[in-house]
Amino acid sequence: MKRTIEDIDVKGKRVLLRVDFNVPLDDSGNILDASRITAELPTIKYLLAHGAKVIICSHIGRPKGEPNPKLSMVSVAKYLVQHLHCKVRFSSNAIGPEAQKNVDMLEDGEVLVLENIRFYKEEEENSPVFSAKLAELADIFVNDAFGTAHRKHSSTYGVAKLLPNAVGFLMGKEINTIASVLENPQRSFIAILGGAKISDKLKVVKNLLETCDTVLIGGGMAYTFLKAQGVEIGNSLYEEECLNDAKEILQKAKEKNKRLLLPQDHVCAAVFSPNAVAFKVKTQYIPTGMIGMDIGARTIKQYVNEIKNAKTIIWNGPMGVFEFLNFREGTKKIAKAVAKSSAKSIVGGGDSLSAIKSLKLEKKIYHLSTGGGASLKLISGEVLPGVDVIADK
Ligand code: AMP
Repeated sequence: MKRTIEDIDVKGKRVLLRVDFNVPLDDSGNILDASRITAELPTIKYLLAHGAKVIICSHIGRPKGEPNPKLSMVSVAKYLVQHLHCKVRFSSNAIGPEAQKNVDMLEDGEVLVLENIRFYKEEEENSPVFSAKLAELADIFVNDAFGTAHRKHSSTYGVAKLLPNAVGFLMGKEINTIASVLENPQRSFIAILGGAKISDKLKVVKNLLETCDTVLIGGGMAYTFLKAQGVEIGNSLYEEECLNDAKEILQKAKEKNKRLLLPQDHVCAAVFSPNAVAFKVKTQYIPTGMIGMDIGARTIKQYVNEIKNAKTIIWNGPMGVFEFLNFREGTKKIAKAVAKSSAKSIVGGGDSLSAIKSLKLEKKIYHLSTGGGASLKLISGEVLPGVDVIADK
């Protein structure tokens, strides 16, 4: 078990709190969805109530190591002013003399918001010098950013090596819930994987074949597997460099007597466009020139049946191009089936979560994970650097 904020004395201490405030902003800097901030308030309020000086650090968007006023954390600071009953300061630099001056002004029970940490290219490089500069600002490091726990960055990893550390409530909940479900999973244990980036998910599929009974594949990543089996895929999404790995995984599933199911039919389009017309293709192969955009009715039926018989379910990634109206049926039906099931379910990944939310099914899911990539890696048995680096109790 990792040390949590309840295991340490934070009174009078400068606490550097790494959070995931990667919120959508409009062009005027208004926060379009503050749910990531509201979810974090219990950790912040706990630290304030226990007399800490709270220094908030996060990234927003992908500024690629350059300052970008459209991605400023000043929006977060303004939001916190309205939602916390304490003084909230903002530092337009995350390190250096200005940040230090702001930290020095902090009283116990006050908050300082640092500028977007990804305005510095050293952050993603996990630069030791940059980590040391961050560490100078604080006495304790708390990581509550589960969504970036799989990244070895300065503010998620490097700085944790230099300071006494702990996890916050959100991180604690994610790692404990996922561990408790996976410790001794009830069977049948199925994983449903979709989305576009097969290169990100191949290792996950491979690892999941060790623990799951059945893996259901949908979305764009299915087509590399189908191609690996020699099935015609038309113009569907396909990653040539993943073909051999996909073949290996199919072979591994056979050897291990695990079931790895691929779409049997599809909803296709002639063009990849929001207004594309949907064509039902009742075979596994896709006609020349067509693009597989969603799983078809027969596949949905088969996958829903698998879900009905499951006692543990992991779902990450949409079954089709969920953003386009004509190609969201597969994802919606899977979302409904997972919600209806009495299995312990863990759902992660932006599109799967939005499918669940748009259908108002949040309460029917055992655990909605805030970190898509991080939860997949944790589930598949990989070590998350941002968690690993935190001391055990
Ligand atoms: P990921 O980030 O890997 O979870 O992928 C999510 C994206 O996968 C979404 O933007 C979907 O539109 C996309 N996606 C799902 N199915 C397909 C498909 N059949 N072809 C292309 N993109 C897809």
